[in-house]
Amino acid sequence: MLSQTELDDEKGRMLRNLSHLVEISVTLNSTLDPEKLLQFIICSAAEVLDCEAASILLYDETRGQLYFATASGDSRQLARIPVPLDGSIAGTIFQENRPLVINEVAADPRHYQQVGEQVSFQARSLLGVPMCIKSRVTGVLEALNKRQGDFNDEDVHILSVIASQAAVAIHNAQLLHALQKANEELRKLDKLKSDFISIASHELRTPLGVILGYATFLKDEAQGELSEHAEMVLNSALKMRTLVEDMTNLNTMQMGTTQLALQPSAIQKVLKQAFQDIQETARAKELAFSVNMPDKPILVNADPAKLEQVFANLMNNAVRFTPQGGKVNLSVLLEKNEVRVLIRDSGIGIPRQDLEKIFEEFYQVENHLRRHMGGMGLGLSIARGLLKLHNGRIWAESPGEGKGSTFTVVLPVMIQSSPPSSET
Ligand code: ADP
Repeated sequence: MLSQTELDDEKGRMLRNLSHLVEISVTLNSTLDPEKLLQFIICSAAEVLDCEAASILLYDETRGQLYFATASGDSRQLARIPVPLDGSIAGTIFQENRPLVINEVAADPRHYQQVGEQVSFQARSLLGVPMCIKSRVTGVLEALNKRQGDFNDEDVHILSVIASQAAVAIHNAQLLHALQKANEELRKLDKLKSDFISIASHELRTPLGVILGYATFLKDEAQGELSEHAEMVLNSALKMRTLVEDMTNLNTMQMGTTQLALQPSAIQKVLKQAFQDIQETARAKELAFSVNMPDKPILVNADPAKLEQVFANLMNNAVRFTPQGGKVNLSVLLEKNEVRVLIRDSGIGIPRQDLEKIFEEFYQVENHLRRHMGGMGLGLSIARGLLKLHNGRIWAESPGEGKGSTFTVVLPVMIQSSPPSSET
């Protein structure tokens, strides 16, 4: 029977342990640096159990063995020592998934002498508990050399509580670390891609200029078949120039260096200009291209060349993705402070799941290698980027594959000053 004072002491001790465990839990949940986390776990374990040292061994799945993730003192030496699952104390705890108390370590045949020798630390007593996530054992937490008395059931209980929280915290920190690493890799890849696009588009521009120059000259000067051949070279070179321009535009937009020459521009004029670029192809495909737009000019504050590029791209897509004999319609609607431009086609349509994705760089509904339509999947992402710079927006709608598509562009209209009153 315990006396009242002993009972009070016992209660006080339990309360201290409990508040210590709560503190540990809070810190574990808020530390995401793996190194700091491991250090904190072993320091807390050694302190709560009043031990000389503690260590964490984690399971290396590729090698099928345990390794020291950290230990009191200098653990760098330990990091190189593999701990086999068979025949070692930690391995037994890991494989049997249960705590182990050894109050005379030296007498235990599983004691791994090499470890103590490496760090000049002699283990006398040991308590080890498995660290688990759900039912999967991920490592072992060990406390060594209890300063007073032997390890008891309460110690086992306390270390198990720390181990179960530590396992989750370590797992989270590892996941975050992996995520950060993957992010860093992605960032590097993205930079590589940007650099490549920048160099490639720059280096292609000069030879392309020469090809365009000579092909134009030959087309005009040569006669008959030769002139036709020169025209084919010229058309291909023009297509290539569009691709190079797309790549350059994408890069400047990503770097935030796109320059806009803003000026009051009539949307009708921009659209007519864009239509010029594609009318030949539309005619060749025998498409019925209808236009509905108000005569009164609708002014937008825009860079007309950039806006023309956006609409030429949308019309070009409508023509490309609509089979021979289909329909394309261009409508302009003035709504309050905005103008809406709708480009509708009766073409191949867009699956619902791709309606947003097509605005991502290099995204094409059809696999690039299997497609016959050409292009690099850049036009729409550039269009969205350019429209954003004009405070505009763009989206796509389609009732489904084979049922046509509608692209809607919305731009703010310029407040037009009302004409001077005729009243005197
Ligand atoms: P691309 O030059 O490859 O056509 P875009 O960015 O202009 O690149 O378009 C991306 C993809 O969106 C196209 O490859 C195509 O799959 C789809 N798409 C764009 N416009 C249409 C349209 N009018 N009808 C059907 N699909 C379209």
